[in-house]
Amino acid sequence: MLKCSTCKETKPEYRFPMDSSKKRGYSYKCLECQREYAKKFNYEPTSDPITCSACHTEKDASNFGLNKRKPLGRNKICKDCHNERLRKQRQKRLKGKEAMDYLKQVVDGSN
Ligand SMILES: [Zn+2]
Ligand SMILES: [Zn+2]
Repeated sequence: MLKCSTCKETKPEYRFPMDSSKKRGYSYKCLECQREYAKKFNYEPTSDPITCSACHTEKDASNFGLNKRKPLGRNKICKDCHNERLRKQRQKRLKGKEAMDYLKQVVDGSN
């Protein structure tokens, strides 16, 4: 049995996360307290289904990329939408470059 430094409860070892940096080999915080802590600081990404803000479809959390700066710990748009956005961005950039090349040709041609 180990005592939790946060809730001061004595709980069996398996209720504590393993931590080799600690002398006792387990974290000082029990799993419940660690979970609470993580929730508070958004360190633990959610595993609940998330509704994508782009396609408005509820998908499993694994469909959303990890993002520590977001409240859920995951991106608000699904990987599909994310990839689609990247693809469009890349296309736009390519179009911009093509337009530049075209303009250059026109300018060079007129000189
Ligand atoms: Zn605790
Ligand atoms: Zn989506």
